[in-house]
Amino acid sequence: MTSRKRNWKPATQLVHSGTLRSPHGETSEAIYLTQGYVYDTAEAAEARFKGEEPGFIYSRYANPTVDMFEKRMCALEGAEDARATSSGMAAVTAAILCGLQAGDHIVAARALFGSCRWVIETLAPRYGIESTLVDGTDIGNWEQACRPNTKLFFLESPTNPTLEVIDIAAVAELATSRGARLVVDNVFATPLQQKPLQLGAHVVVYSATKHIDGQGRCLGGIVLSDKEWIDKNLHDYFRHTGPSLSPFNAWTLLKGLETLPVRVRQQTESAAEIAGFLATRPEIARVIYPGRADHPQAAVVAKQMAGGSTLICLELKGGKKTAFAFQNALEVVKISNNLGDAKSLITHPATTTHKNLTDDARAELGIGGGTLRLSVGLEDTDDLIADIGEALDRAG
Ligand SMILES: *Cc1c(COP(=O)(O)O)cnc(C)c1O
Repeated sequence: MTSRKRNWKPATQLVHSGTLRSPHGETSEAIYLTQGYVYDTAEAAEARFKGEEPGFIYSRYANPTVDMFEKRMCALEGAEDARATSSGMAAVTAAILCGLQAGDHIVAARALFGSCRWVIETLAPRYGIESTLVDGTDIGNWEQACRPNTKLFFLESPTNPTLEVIDIAAVAELATSRGARLVVDNVFATPLQQKPLQLGAHVVVYSATKHIDGQGRCLGGIVLSDKEWIDKNLHDYFRHTGPSLSPFNAWTLLKGLETLPVRVRQQTESAAEIAGFLATRPEIARVIYPGRADHPQAAVVAKQMAGGSTLICLELKGGKKTAFAFQNALEVVKISNNLGDAKSLITHPATTTHKNLTDDARAELGIGGGTLRLSVGLEDTDDLIADIGEALDRAG
């Protein structure tokens, strides 16, 4: 049985892996909404606390529904072990801080989700951990930024919102050669379209809030890596600081995983079609879409990603005024800073997700007044194209 299970393709893993059935034999995974667990005897409690007997102790440490989510994600990612968290940021923060101490140094790609950038630029230095942010698309910049005390590399790819693609294998090789670890935030790619561990990364993190839930319901996150690193760096931190995922949210995310391949495939197909349509419109200065031949890192996309993206970055010619008029004229596509949802969502990064950056930092990242990020949902592609086309007509 075990050897055959190893050969399951992702869609099968996402329906069946990690399932822990109760004696009732339920079809759908049970929600173990419990804080604690009872022991038959005092001796059994003692044995469980000593680690001599398997079993759950307290839901801050582990919970059966959360365990199913972690195991299913491990199967998909090809990771030995994982810890689920209450949000994506809890996962990112744990992955960055747990393996470091005062005196260590981080090198990170500067195109980061706003809160990831805050953890690296603002929080870590308070505890004596310094950082250097680089343009991650050039491996030479990573090399130059290294110091003898560099212990951690961090990147997102594709990046938010301009969908830059970073060569994960090259950064992983550099990290490994220096005895450092590479943490990859793989949210934009989804676990289906990019496998950072196979590319040599040491730790992968997700905001499960995005495509993994995929239906806009709950927050969640996960850190995946080898068992030794998790035992050494995360185990005690998770037990004692409590970023644990709620069993109810773990259940919602398990249900999300079942449909992840179908949703991501459809959303990616739609996004590719919409990106093609946008490229034909005179109101658009630039369309950035991984999978298009004119993507700035098209060769890296082809090397490390299995498909395109569910996200599109577009630049309107008229700047902020036109970008706002376009957003306000949309009917099917909703204005929201979230992404990976069944509903198509559009956001104006300069005034929302990236408003806290300085003008210079925004310019460095290529975020202007006309820049918009579109997360393509599950609506009919023709309806989306019609909505976008009409909104462009009205905004133009
Ligand atoms: C949303 C997001 C996060 C944070 O996730 P939350 O679940 O909102 O805490 C981190 N990284 C990236 C790339 C994201 O898109």
